[in-house]
Amino acid sequence: MNSNVPEYFGSMVFNEDVMRERLTPEVYDALHVAMETGGGLTIDIANAVAAVMKDWAIEKGATHYTHWFQPMTGITAEKHDSFLRPDKNGHPIMSFSGKGLIKGESDASSFPSGGLRATFEARGYTAWDPTSYAFVKDGSLYIPTVFCSFSGDTLDAKTPLLRSMQALSEQAVRLMRICGNRDVNRVVPMVGAEQEYFLIDKEMYDRRPDLIYTGRTLFGAPSPKGQKSDHHYYGAIKPRIMAFMQELDTELWKLGVFSQTKHNEAAPAQHELAPFFENANAAVDHNHITMEYLRKTAEKHGLVCLLHEKPFASVNGSGKHDNWSICTDTGVNLLDPGNTPAENAQFLLFFSAVIKAVDEYQDLLRLSVATRSNDLRLGGNEAPPAIISIYVGEVLEHIIEKLVAKEEYEPDEEHDIKLGVSALPSFPRDSSDRNRTSPFAFTGNKFEFRMLGSSLNVANPTATLNTIVAEELRKFADKLEAAEDFDVALNRLIRHTLRDHKRIIFGGNGYSKEWVEEAKRRGLSNYATTADVLPHFTDEKNVELFTRHGIYTVQEMNSRREISLATYASNVRIEAKTMVDMVRRNYLPAIGRYTAELDRALQLSGGRAKRATFDRLIALEDSAFDTVTALEAAVADYTAVNVADSEELARKLCDKVIPLMDTLRETVDEAEKLMPASDWPFPSYGDIMFKI
Ligand code: ADP
Ligand code: MG
Repeated sequence: MNSNVPEYFGSMVFNEDVMRERLTPEVYDALHVAMETGGGLTIDIANAVAAVMKDWAIEKGATHYTHWFQPMTGITAEKHDSFLRPDKNGHPIMSFSGKGLIKGESDASSFPSGGLRATFEARGYTAWDPTSYAFVKDGSLYIPTVFCSFSGDTLDAKTPLLRSMQALSEQAVRLMRICGNRDVNRVVPMVGAEQEYFLIDKEMYDRRPDLIYTGRTLFGAPSPKGQKSDHHYYGAIKPRIMAFMQELDTELWKLGVFSQTKHNEAAPAQHELAPFFENANAAVDHNHITMEYLRKTAEKHGLVCLLHEKPFASVNGSGKHDNWSICTDTGVNLLDPGNTPAENAQFLLFFSAVIKAVDEYQDLLRLSVATRSNDLRLGGNEAPPAIISIYVGEVLEHIIEKLVAKEEYEPDEEHDIKLGVSALPSFPRDSSDRNRTSPFAFTGNKFEFRMLGSSLNVANPTATLNTIVAEELRKFADKLEAAEDFDVALNRLIRHTLRDHKRIIFGGNGYSKEWVEEAKRRGLSNYATTADVLPHFTDEKNVELFTRHGIYTVQEMNSRREISLATYASNVRIEAKTMVDMVRRNYLPAIGRYTAELDRALQLSGGRAKRATFDRLIALEDSAFDTVTALEAAVADYTAVNVADSEELARKLCDKVIPLMDTLRETVDEAEKLMPASDWPFPSYGDIMFKI
């Protein structure tokens, strides 16, 4: 392994250094204006960039290029075209035009559109996003793009993210101007996405249809050794896993991903990778690359990487932490408390905007992480609860108490500094005592949104966060703009905001039963499942929010709601059908064979042990048969054809089908414990998690 990382870091990326070295100053400048303002490029400039990009990509071994985009499937999509074409004389030449760089046309008819795309117009467009660098991998030049329909409706996850970054920047800069700041022209949300995953042996994986079809085990009795007794967390990494991690790091570094931390996680066979944070757009793209390389690199090592939120019942699931802060183009993190009273005041202003945003849009944050697979994790005893609350740490909680207690602003000649936030003691940064049970924690100079599932596209929760905060900053700016006495108004604004939204702040144990009760008393929402929360996407206040900031049109929101509901329904149905298949074709026959064997043995010799096992297994067999019959019928009933309304279909699957699945699993898992290991059709939890 080459340990000279700085030498090859980003070597496959068409990054700043390459651009400066290879583009003419004129082209370089024009491109950067477009990157910073989001404006377009003239065709001449685009042609010049494309030609240079192509030559560079060919040097890196590329023969093809692809527009790389994020349709609403949750994963990325690509279609490769070679640079190759015949010249006038039929000789092969390698060419790449500005048009090919900027815009791609694709058949969008197989991507989810939620009814946006009229059937007669199946075309979709991809358009270059020059704010995320192009890169070469697997012999192709990858060009990050947005994806929209022929009529301009967005069909992807990147467009709303970029729009939300713009909205956040506009409102933050506006607010800072009102506060007297003249230097800042842009603010950028910064994101660090910590990624959890499982690694299991490919051979085990191949023998489990549930893993293959659904990404998780739908059956499996707990192994004798669970995770409690295990010392896996931060434990020494096995050589086979280390070899995988080293190769992964090298590949990611070449692609400009700042992979930084790696360690074993709490569950057996579970691990984590954390990158260094960067601007939200790049962070999202890099998380996609990371997930892809986790999978690919695993295969090379005879392993399979499970990114599912809950691959195994009874051990921890996998999440993703969206570490989020706001940074100015002058390099100041607006969520850093700073050292001076003025910095403290600026911090408190932005901090209280986030508090208010999270309180007012609990539903949207919950919604942004809502998937069938994440439902299996949220609210469990190891994952953040489904209730949104914010942990701010003891020091800040104390400061907030003090600020709120002072009912009205009283000028205090002696202690008042310009911004009038005299009640503040100096701010020790409190990032040590972290409450791991909180779904949304302030950790020193950033917020950590911990409800994301491990397979989720970070774009959606990040765009939501950007937008709801932009909205509160807008309201703040409106208030302060109209103020007669700025200092008094600022003081009052921070104080009243914290007072009115204190209910969202919670420092206790988020996993406890008492918290559920307490949250209810506080009036916080608690959406246990995806089916509960998805319909709220198009609530009036949410439509008002997203349309005001130009993130979505009403139509786009309706389409997204439809897609999410349909995806949920489809995922539940695939799980149910896989269960039916496994029970009918594997589990019942296996139990049947063994009980027949016991029956013969009993006739020969009798025996209490055999009798008890036989009786219990026969009961379980009958019960599994009844449940699987009911489940099969329910799956046949609750289809998109029979239940046309997608909200109702999701509801039905959640209320009628999932409970049957749970019962079926319990029954089969109990049988597993009574059956000879050699007669059980699939590898056990112990085999999968510990034999690696
Ligand atoms: P941990 O939560 O594992 O103890 P850290 O809090 O140091 O570790 O970092 C977790 C993640 O947060 C990393 O990906 C890191 O790059 C990211 N991070 C650190 N500072 C910021 C920031 N200001 N904005 C966004 N992300 C950040
Ligand atoms: Mg963390």
